Amino acid sequence: MDTLTSYLLNNPTALVLVLPIVILVAVVIYILTFPATRPVQSRRADKFHPSRVPSNLDTIVIGSGSGGSTVANLLGQSGQRVLVLEQHSVTGGCTHSFREEGCEWDTGLHYVSKAMSTRTKRAGAIMDFMSQGKQMWTPFPSSAPYDEIVFPEDPHVKEGAPNEWSHKFYDGTETTVRAVLNSIDPDNDELKSRVRTFMDICLDVHNGFVALGIYRLLPSFLKFLVKDKVERLYKYGAMTVRDAQHAILSLGYSKEDLLRNCPKSPDGAEIDPSIRRMKGVLTHPIGDYAVQPRHATFAAHGVTMAHYLNGGAYTGKVGATQNISIRLTSACRSFGGEVLIDATVRRIVVENGRAVGVMVSNTDELEECKSQGDLAKVPITEIRAKNVVCATSVYNLYNKLLAKDLPLVRKFQDPSKRTIRQSNGHVFLFCKIRGDADDIGLPDHNLWYFNGYDLDNAFDAYFKDPTEVRPPTVYIGFPCTKDTTWKKRFPGISNCILISDGLYEWFEKWADKPVRNRGEDYMDFKDKLTKHLMDILCEFVPQVKGRIEYYHLGTPLSECTFLASYRGGSYGTQCVPEMFSPINREWTTTPFTEISGLYLAGSDAFLPSVTGAMYGGCLSASAVLGKLGTLRLGHAILSHMAMRLREENPKLSRVEAYLLAMKKFME
Ligand SMILES: Cc1cc2nc3c(=O)[nH]c(=O)nc-3n(C[C@H](O)[C@H](O)[C@H](O)COP(=O)(O)OP(=O)(O)OC[C@H]3O[C@@H](n4cnc5c(N)ncnc54)[C@H](O)[C@@H]3O)c2cc1C
Repeated sequence: MDTLTSYLLNNPTALVLVLPIVILVAVVIYILTFPATRPVQSRRADKFHPSRVPSNLDTIVIGSGSGGSTVANLLGQSGQRVLVLEQHSVTGGCTHSFREEGCEWDTGLHYVSKAMSTRTKRAGAIMDFMSQGKQMWTPFPSSAPYDEIVFPEDPHVKEGAPNEWSHKFYDGTETTVRAVLNSIDPDNDELKSRVRTFMDICLDVHNGFVALGIYRLLPSFLKFLVKDKVERLYKYGAMTVRDAQHAILSLGYSKEDLLRNCPKSPDGAEIDPSIRRMKGVLTHPIGDYAVQPRHATFAAHGVTMAHYLNGGAYTGKVGATQNISIRLTSACRSFGGEVLIDATVRRIVVENGRAVGVMVSNTDELEECKSQGDLAKVPITEIRAKNVVCATSVYNLYNKLLAKDLPLVRKFQDPSKRTIRQSNGHVFLFCKIRGDADDIGLPDHNLWYFNGYDLDNAFDAYFKDPTEVRPPTVYIGFPCTKDTTWKKRFPGISNCILISDGLYEWFEKWADKPVRNRGEDYMDFKDKLTKHLMDILCEFVPQVKGRIEYYHLGTPLSECTFLASYRGGSYGTQCVPEMFSPINREWTTTPFTEISGLYLAGSDAFLPSVTGAMYGGCLSASAVLGKLGTLRLGHAILSHMAMRLREENPKLSRVEAYLLAMKKFME
């Protein structure tokens, strides 16, 4: 060895030839030796106690929602020692479930795209890799709709056209286009072609987000490969849903026309009755990003529409949505890390411009504090690590978790440097229903109530007076019909969840009042909101009348309490065109922050939704691991996906399966 070394040192030409080969071999060995999968014992997290914190941590992850669980899992599997800190008494964030009065409800996962339930598609492959095949999903049946939108009676229908109040969305674009056209104006070929264009453009938006994800993963010198698609996405991002619908459905614009110029939609309702009804129906994904058409970015709309075009899925065979985070974060322990609940991160420690750790207290001790004096007495533990990932929103990060005098925090607070804000919140009605879902005949797909085809009018009226006016959109779901383990776990009982929009500002005056004891006026206000939701439920699912044994209304204040959401925001950053404007790109849809060693995961690192936040977790893991670590992780995921492809089609060779996995990963 010594002779070889001295030979190379004395012969620079040989050194120049050998060195790249040695480096290449080392890189290949590194990539191929992904830490072998270790058996994972799934178990719930323990309460935070300083003695439970492992030493020599690589990364601390704040929050255990879809984003936090993903980044923790991927870093753990990459060999890092990861600590997950969750402020709530259970892990999962929006994917946690809770029990009350002998019933169970999920909170923020009512369905995901069918791709999540397919192990050979990108989302499903990543979930399958992370959970070592243990997270199962049941796709909604292709023969039935996954979503049905129901409207109040509509007096403005084209003469001779059907006056349907229910419109259904199925697995597959063509089936959906046919179904919605049949329920509005079956013989209108021009409208049909415009609806197809609308769906095609939604798919183009989706491709733009795939390109954005790849853009974040690629080294700088390769980013040009996807730059055009990302630029196109930003163009869609700058349009509102109302304007894009006007251009495509009212004016008949093609994709190219729209990208050249998206004209402003006139105020007021659409005059053509069929186009008006179609616009209302194609506003369908609005509940998944919660911004009215006049203000919403078309990018959020397009990607959500495309996300579900091949149908939906729900957790299957493995019980409540709660189990997802348990399964994903448990992997950390197998690699020397830990997952702790009741652990509120109060501050991220930044030294010399680098994040080096966090300050943590027990949540239940903080909740007992009645004054600043009490707060000062709560023990704080400092925990150090090489990296910190904030998997709660950027609004928590810059408003609560970083010191106010940091230049970056001051920049975030400067209105000329940031024009985005957190999303609106929701109100949720959780109901326990007497009887078995099949006996009662509960729908096994999602129902969406829309209070009129002109959604902007409906939103304006509701925001003006939510106690007098029905909500513009209400999600109505029955998890008991989708969870294949339900009947065994809760025989003779059904559950139901209704979700509508809710502004934190309505509830702000009660924010400092004790949880579950906020006063009579709070209860009065809640009762009025509850009445609207109950009326809608009983109108559209009349078979539940007289069977509702228990109900409970959650508000944006509940989101503050249980999810530590900033001002009750449900979906990270509000999905408005500003989200994609150049000044805001450094704050959101990226895992990077200006502080070295500090990264983002979850919705704000990519997009809202369980899948969007999961991708946010993937981008975050890539940012922490660097390009080489990303290559190694990427290879491990692709090999896993290739293995599943070969299970599906044993005729595929290893190389063919790997190449196919690469192709499918980019779809
Ligand atoms: C009502 C509702 C319904 C939804 N329905 C669907 C659906 O059907 N399908 C779908 O795909 N998406 C749905 N979503 C959206 C989706 O659930 C979220 O976008 C996604 O799960 C967010 O994941 P996340 O990891 O970014 O954040 P979260 O899930 O919010 O996780 C953040 C975590 O950080 C923790 N945390 C915050 N501050 C601290 C702190 N200081 N210290 C320690 N921990 C902290 C919180 O407790 C929380 O657990 C829904 C959301 C809501 C609110």
